[in-house]
Amino acid sequence: MDPIKETIERMHQDPGLPSNNPTTAFWQEPAHPTLKDIQSPVLPTSVDVAIIGSGITGCSVANTLLSGNEDLKVIMLEARTATSGATGRNGGHIKEMPFYEYSELAEQHGKEAAQRLIRFRLSHLYALMSFAKQLGQEAVTNSEIRIVETVDAVFDEAQWQHIKALLRNFLDDFPEEVGKWHAYEKEEAIAGYGIPTAVGVITGLAGALWPYRLITEALEGLLSSHKQRFSLETHTPVLSISTEGSESFQYQVITNRGTIRARHVVHCTNGYVGHLLPNLRGTIFPMRGQMTVQNPGQSFPTNGARQSWGFVYKRGFDYMTQSAVSNDIYLGGGFANGENKGLDDLGVSSDEQLSLLALAHLNGLLPTLYGPENWGLDAAHQPRVKAAWSGIMGFSSDGMPWVGKLPDELSGRHAHPGGSEWIAAAFCGEGMVHCWQSGRALGEMILGNESAIAEWFPRLLYPTVERLQRARVEDFIARTI
Ligand SMILES: Cc1cc2nc3c(=O)[nH]c(=O)nc-3n(C[C@H](O)[C@H](O)[C@H](O)COP(=O)(O)OP(=O)(O)OC[C@H]3O[C@@H](n4cnc5c(N)ncnc54)[C@H](O)[C@@H]3O)c2cc1C
Repeated sequence: MDPIKETIERMHQDPGLPSNNPTTAFWQEPAHPTLKDIQSPVLPTSVDVAIIGSGITGCSVANTLLSGNEDLKVIMLEARTATSGATGRNGGHIKEMPFYEYSELAEQHGKEAAQRLIRFRLSHLYALMSFAKQLGQEAVTNSEIRIVETVDAVFDEAQWQHIKALLRNFLDDFPEEVGKWHAYEKEEAIAGYGIPTAVGVITGLAGALWPYRLITEALEGLLSSHKQRFSLETHTPVLSISTEGSESFQYQVITNRGTIRARHVVHCTNGYVGHLLPNLRGTIFPMRGQMTVQNPGQSFPTNGARQSWGFVYKRGFDYMTQSAVSNDIYLGGGFANGENKGLDDLGVSSDEQLSLLALAHLNGLLPTLYGPENWGLDAAHQPRVKAAWSGIMGFSSDGMPWVGKLPDELSGRHAHPGGSEWIAAAFCGEGMVHCWQSGRALGEMILGNESAIAEWFPRLLYPTVERLQRARVEDFIARTI
């Protein structure tokens, strides 16, 4: 069968439930001691809000709801162990390179809408830093959250010229960003950043963190501050949803441990959204990503406290951070090097397997890019790759997250006025610059505080029937390969 047709078919399939036998993610070792398998002895019979998914998005929604209304009873349902999805398996890079997409977004949606979306993404670095500080110094230390200079090395001349033009266009429309982003030509790039194979380097501000630790610590705090009205139920997959409840608690959320009645249901299941929302299959779909932890070469500088990196090729990119504590390198990507130009990872909802060719690419990448002088020998008797795992991201055909109240046509169920289904998903591989503020905005929408988000939430992200009709998987594939 034609690989594109096969991929499109897979992207429309039911993603099912998260696998019970995922690859082991380095970030989740050791697992949070009290949260990993947490469950109440019995499920409550009714709640105001049932949040499905215990990643960063679900956590952000819960945080806003619980602090915004002290009477709400909230439950978080998680199919596997706590925070074991993409949030516990990602690259930990809080990185928005705003110029890459700004020109195209402005062309498609107008400058004002594009600027709002870019500012929304850029706000995440400071929002996450400030949330971590609010949790306390221990959370900041344990999650290793930090602001860094990010260095994007570009390896193709035509691509370099194109990116510099995008940067100029972006800076023309964002005068407040002038001075934060810099382009360095080859000689300067080699002298300043030690990547001899690059044709140029762009630098700016980004962040890095250990997301599993930040989010499990945040959930632990919410559980202890709101004991009577918030619970996290791990190993409790939601199997289906029906609207056969009473008018005030209209949703029946059916799990492997029983049924809960809820006024509102919030879908924070990212790549798995299509399982409970069949009308969104093919519009939001899963994609498998690949991560590694590597030992640095003996000549590689230890710059993790103040730098992070991206490697941009003619087609595709990779991303890297380095722990300021252990010097471990976190390198992810390799999508474009996967089978069938990466197509074989599209529509894949199981994180049980590694993407072999992506892994091979990531294994050999750093000595190749940095060269013997700047990478040096691998440390004696140490494997270069210490750990490798995969994770499932949620992507959307139109390349943007879907955040807001679900109309009946999208949920496939009729909602009475007293409650609704809500979604925050499809962060398109860039959750650290989308999820927290999306979850916060969704929480405010559920609380009825639309005015609290009017100034900053990008209206482009609302889930609408028009958006569903416009979104085409074929366009996504054409943009991707
Ligand atoms: C390999 C990899 C590398 C990445 N690197 C980066 C990066 O460096 N920077 C960046 O910005 N983004 C990165 N991302 C993307 C980022 O991790 C995600 O966008 C973000 O974590 C999504 O968070 P979430 O809470 O929406 O979803 P998730 O963290 O995936 O949480 C969803 C949860 O829902 C649960 N669930 C699903 N279905 C059900 C059900 N029916 N019932 C109950 N529970 C269910 C899942 O088990 C999961 O725990 C990466 C992702 C991957 C996989």
